[in-house]
Order: sequence, then structure tokens, then C-alpha cells
Amino acid sequence: MDFNPSAPTVMHIDINSCFATIEQQANPLLRGLPIAVVAYDSPRGVILAASIEAKRFGVKTGMRLMDGRQLVPELTVVLPDPDKYRFVHKKLNKLLSKFCSEIYPKSIDEFVLDFQSHRVESLPAQAGSMQHVARDIKRRIEEEIGEWITVSIGISTNRQLAKVAAGMVKPDGLVEINGSNFRQVYKSLKLTDMHGINTRYAVRLNAVGIHTVPEFYESTLSNIEAAFRSVNAFYWYLRLRGYEVDGIEFGRKSFGNSYSIPQNLSLVRELSPILAKLVNKTATRLRKAKYAAYGVHVAVSFKGGGFWHHGERLPQPVFYTSDIFKAAYAVLKRVRINRPVHTLSVSCYDLVEKPPLQLSMFENEEKRQFLAQAMDRVNNRFGSFVLMTGNMLAAKDAVKDRIAFGQGGIS
Ligand SMILES: [Mg+2]
Repeated sequence: MDFNPSAPTVMHIDINSCFATIEQQANPLLRGLPIAVVAYDSPRGVILAASIEAKRFGVKTGMRLMDGRQLVPELTVVLPDPDKYRFVHKKLNKLLSKFCSEIYPKSIDEFVLDFQSHRVESLPAQAGSMQHVARDIKRRIEEEIGEWITVSIGISTNRQLAKVAAGMVKPDGLVEINGSNFRQVYKSLKLTDMHGINTRYAVRLNAVGIHTVPEFYESTLSNIEAAFRSVNAFYWYLRLRGYEVDGIEFGRKSFGNSYSIPQNLSLVRELSPILAKLVNKTATRLRKAKYAAYGVHVAVSFKGGGFWHHGERLPQPVFYTSDIFKAAYAVLKRVRINRPVHTLSVSCYDLVEKPPLQLSMFENEEKRQFLAQAMDRVNNRFGSFVLMTGNMLAAKDAVKDRIAFGQGGIS
């Protein structure tokens, strides 16, 4: 599967040295000086932000003030003023909303703009027009928010790579990662430069022979699956190819499973038994962790490239295999599948702790719950998918050729 051929539509905007630059914007006497915004003014106080000048000496966020002073004895200390930072955040949010209707503030100093469904009014849709917009945004920030405040902007086809791009040049960066330069860019990155790959995950990747980002990209999906035994393997496979899997707000936690299909299957009825198996695995884990889910997400990647996904938010949280299957099946039916599917995945997101019994809603709630738990117990003992609900059996019957799930099946 190659890199996403679509034009980049995602922009990640990050205020450089946010708290420190805002303090310098507010007080010109601090400009050009190494300053540190510190939680409290004592040697053990933690540095919340260092100005660009202080960073040049190696002062970093998270350091104790005493360590910062070791590097820069004349480091100027400023106490944080959250109102000031909120004021700038709101102002920037308002300015950005003039450029794009889909704005996602990620933190006080970070914004994601998604131009996917949004026409860039002032510019023709042409290659590089996102970069024009980015330069326009920088100019307007300078004019309307403050000449001392700079942002680093990253542009790409998905959020992950836009964020990586925004982190590459600081301050005042503008980097685009696309289908023609991604190989070059990947050579310059460490695994931990990818947002979400911490040292613990890097060690897992190392264990399967992945030490660099180009190796991560070249790796097969099954090799990544050996490192991340979850649907995340598939998501990373897609992220590295520039496909968006982070547009859905999965929240802190989600449960999911994916399966790479060796056969050439391209019909919903052929895929539904696989979907049923994935739902069963996911639902069992969901119940075991005592959660219910408002969101059900289905992702499909195609052999020979291309990717489709959709998350559906439900009016009430689902918990039973049959309910999750019903929702997932409805999502799957929306895909225009016209070529063989490479990988199918299901995730439950937007989780809530399993609600107490709602007897008024389901007459036989207690019975259903007992049944679900009993099925889980049997499946745990005798291997997954021994017991299926009626829905899943129906889906299985719809398939002409039985699909064998042997060893090396869904894990
Ligand atoms: Mg920042």
C-alpha cells in the first residue's frame, strides 16, 4: 500500500514557546532575553516554558529552575499568568476560524485545521495552496495577535504527519509532508518523533527489527502487529502512509481488533463473518473491562491502496456483541467496496463505565446480560467464536465459501 495520493488538507499550528513568547509579547522588556515561566519561584520550581532565547542554551520545559540556572545564570523568571494565555488562545481561535470552519484546539497552544470539506475561499485549489494559507495565517498572527508571537505550521494528509511536520522547524516553521517528500522526511526522524511512540513502544518496535522511521514505513503490517498486538498496528500502518485515522476522537481509551484478509473478498456479505469475529473479540474485551461504548468505528483498507473509515455515534451505549455487530454492520454497509479488502478493523470508542441495569428499557436485560457473560466464559474456555448470537450466525450463513480462521488468524 502506497502513500496517500490525495492533496494535503490537514494543518497543525503550534505556538512557539507559548507561555514565554506571550509574556514577551506583553512585556517588551523581556524580548530577546532568556526567560523561563516557572510554576513557583524557588530553585526546585518547574520550568513550564522557556523562551526561544533560553532554549538556545538548552533550557527545556520540565527542568527545575536550578538546572536552568546552571545553563543560563541570568535566566529571568516569570510567574505564569493563565488569563493571558487563554486570551491569546481565544484570539487565535477566532482568527483561525476565518480561514477554516473545522478547527480542533488540541491544547492551549495547538490547533488542528481540517480543510477536507472546506473550500479555501481566497485561493484556487492548486498544489501548494495550503502553504499559501499557512503563510497568510502567519502574517495575520503577526499583525493581529502580536509581532513577537510565532507559530510552527505543519501540513500533511493526516493529523499525525501534520503534527510531526509542525515539530520539525522551530520557531516559525512551515513544513509540508506529502507523497513526494515523505521518504526524505522519514530519514530525518526518530521513532519517538512520531506522536504516540514513546520509548516503551520504541522498544517493542526494536524487538521486531524496526529501529528507524523508514524501517517502520517499510515494515509489513504483520510485523507491526507482532509489536503492537492490537488494532493500533493497523492504525500505525495507515498513519505512516498518510491516511487519517485520528479524525475520530477515540478518547483516552478504545477497544478494537483488525484482520488482514488473505483471500480476495470485496462484498459486504463476504466480509460480514470477519466483521462478526472482530466484533466478538472486541465486545468480549469491552465487557471484561466493564465498559460500554457510544461509538463504533469500522475501517477498511484496500489491496492496491486506498482506505475508508467511519465512526458512528449511537444514541445509547452498546455493550452486547449483537448490538455492536448491528452498529458495525450498518457502518460497513456504507462503504463502496469495489475491490478486494486488505484489512478490516472494528473499534469501540467513546467509552463509559458499564451502566447499571436499565430494566425499563429492556425487559429481559438481566437475562441478556447473563447470557452475554456466559457466552464470554464459554468462548474463553473453548476458544473464540464457539458461541455466536443469531445475527452473527446469519452473517456467517450468507457466505458461500467458508473462510478458515486457522493459526495466524485474528490476534
Ligand atoms: Mg508550542
